[in-house]
Amino acid sequence: MSSSRPAGTGTPAVGPPTAQELMLREAAWLAPYAMPSMQSQGRRYPEPEHPYRTPYQRDRDRITHSAAYRRLSYKTQVFTGEMGQQHRTRLTHTLEVASIARTLGRALRLNEDLIEALALVHDLGHPPFGHAGEQALQQCLGEAGSFSHNQHALTLVEHLERRYPAFPGLNLTWEVLHGQGAKAQQRLLDQGALLEVQVVDAADNIAYDTHDADDALTLGLLQLDDLTQLDLWRHAQAAVRRRWTIQDRLLFQRAVVRQLIDTLVGDLLRTTWDNLRRHEVSSRQDVARLGRLVHPSAEIAEQQQALERFLFQHVYRHPQLLAMRKRACEMIHACYEQLLPRVEELSQPFQERAARHGPAQAVAEYLACLTDEELLQLAQSPRTQSLPRR
Ligand code: MG
Repeated sequence: MSSSRPAGTGTPAVGPPTAQELMLREAAWLAPYAMPSMQSQGRRYPEPEHPYRTPYQRDRDRITHSAAYRRLSYKTQVFTGEMGQQHRTRLTHTLEVASIARTLGRALRLNEDLIEALALVHDLGHPPFGHAGEQALQQCLGEAGSFSHNQHALTLVEHLERRYPAFPGLNLTWEVLHGQGAKAQQRLLDQGALLEVQVVDAADNIAYDTHDADDALTLGLLQLDDLTQLDLWRHAQAAVRRRWTIQDRLLFQRAVVRQLIDTLVGDLLRTTWDNLRRHEVSSRQDVARLGRLVHPSAEIAEQQQALERFLFQHVYRHPQLLAMRKRACEMIHACYEQLLPRVEELSQPFQERAARHGPAQAVAEYLACLTDEELLQLAQSPRTQSLPRR
């Protein structure tokens, strides 16, 4: 498709901009250490470029149209559905990560489309019931296979999603697959992953540290006073009080959480800019050589770790959550035992996985593709009942 925009006149375009125009606009805006889509290493199965979307825009759209992405709305982040419907799900967590990561990316002049695709894919592989589900699947598999939610996200987008006649999976660009691969092998994140990848990893930490505290307060698992032992929280409270007098507890809590995000994002940006300047970073090659450049200052990192230790002790190990984890674990074990002899009932993609990696691995991957509610129903259903199709 060619552009109908008269050259150099500033006249609004009559038709949509071409992908080429969008990529040129992008390249003019991006910092020299960012990843421009015109330099993408492309896709495993070559495809013609889209007439008016860049490759990373297409990746983002492919992820949001996938079944795995829709299932995130019915999957636990930390708190289960029986605890109410106001807290974060895996989907809203993903959207908060994307939002924070895009803010960071724009401020650093990185590729926002790539960042959004990376953020939307990052938790796609979470099984039902969050980390409890992940641990249960690992226990079920033992020596017979392996399961990690980061790796499973790749399995979904490379093999299990079936939407296109020409290839299995979503045929995402190399940069998105490699970025998610770096998340699956954390050491790669410290070995010079693209800044877009580093930004999404940092945004993930900021999102869950702040929203888990927020949800735990809203659900009554924590009280505001419990958090004042933490420097990060106390400083955020003080900043809010300097600006406002808020009587309403919930309004105050939300103002502090907002301040907390602002503190963490601001510090991360200042530290990253400082790193980029200090090392005179002027290319992606510099990034690859220097390793981790997107991180908080030493002082804030220490405070953020203290918040994480606190959440681990007082929220993730709260008796209510431990009871949920135990139930989820029992259900996954029961479903795994139920399905192992029925592996031939699973759909074609899982048959292919079973042929290549063994029936145990295929059953674990199938269970990871269920929502919390589907797993609950399967655990309670007779062994002859038909299985949710994936
Ligand atoms: Mg996450």
